[in-house]
Amino acid sequence: MTPPYARVALIGLGLIASSIAHAMRRAGMTSHIAGHARSAETRAVAAEIGFCDSVHETAAEAVAGADLVILCVPVGAMGDVAAEIGPHLAAGATLSDVGSVKRAVISAVGPHLPEGVHFIPAHPIAGTENSGPRSGFAELFDGRWCLMTPVTDSDGHALERYMAFWHALGAEVDVMGADHHDLVLAVTSHAPHLIAYTMVGVADDLRRVTDSEVIKYSAAGFRDFTRIAASDPTMWRDVFLNNRDATLEILGRFTEELFALQRAIRTGDGDLLHDYFTRTRAIRRGIIEAGQDTDAPDFGRAHRPRG
Ligand code: NAP
Repeated sequence: MTPPYARVALIGLGLIASSIAHAMRRAGMTSHIAGHARSAETRAVAAEIGFCDSVHETAAEAVAGADLVILCVPVGAMGDVAAEIGPHLAAGATLSDVGSVKRAVISAVGPHLPEGVHFIPAHPIAGTENSGPRSGFAELFDGRWCLMTPVTDSDGHALERYMAFWHALGAEVDVMGADHHDLVLAVTSHAPHLIAYTMVGVADDLRRVTDSEVIKYSAAGFRDFTRIAASDPTMWRDVFLNNRDATLEILGRFTEELFALQRAIRTGDGDLLHDYFTRTRAIRRGIIEAGQDTDAPDFGRAHRPRG
């Protein structure tokens, strides 16, 4: 395949960056992949695995001569990294990021962009609870959405080229305004993560009373919460601090609904509960029909036979 970009720089070498590199290779792209991570340990692991052609001590060295640069660091670190690489970006290069929040990243990165660099913020909605350079895999983006949130002066040709790049990595691609993205993700990802963190925290408090029963008898619902609540603490701290308004808006609505359900339980209003759960079940069906999750029972987990 003719590489859409001759030299791609990945700044930050964790789950998302390593998955991008693996997916590029799977797609047959022969682009030179230059990588940088802040710690010597991560750089050594990346060099050992070999998903980059060159690993650099500084971000400035990694971006030199790159026609595509993707920032793959936590949202709260984007501004500092952009300040460091700004003067070293090649004219005509595309700069993008994979941050889970878009408006805050645009505000943090925008001021450091030199003339002639195309800034195309984006967010692949794909991930796992694992992090670091060993956690990436080529299939991560297959059939998942990558949302582009171009800024007003984003160049149309550069946008099309970058969309084709993500398509080749296996993703479906769509374009959305940054504020709308942040509200949608607050509903679909950010608030659910906070709820999972809270539920696991509550169970942890309870465990002190009931010893190991919470773990021993943990049912599927709680196990799924623990998987989500095992996600990277730095990444998620930054998501909440940088998508504050949208997350608080959704959590406000969540609290109101929770009170309504709490009241229905107290007053014995079974009709309300049944209607509510019927509505939510239909949403699950819609997600499966859209091909965004498996229809296998219990997410396709293998069930061990007794014996
Ligand atoms: P990760 O596996 O934890 O990797 C993060 C990388 O960023 C590491 O190489 C780390 O360097 C570097 N880094 C951390 N703090 C930094 C700082 N203050 N300055 C410079 N570099 C720093 O994270 P990830 O899951 O790939 O996430 C990266 C980005 O993708 C985040 O913006 C996140 O919001 C977004 N995202 C994540 C997911 C997901 O589910 N994980 C999904 C979509 C988008 P060291 O290893 O040297 O510490």
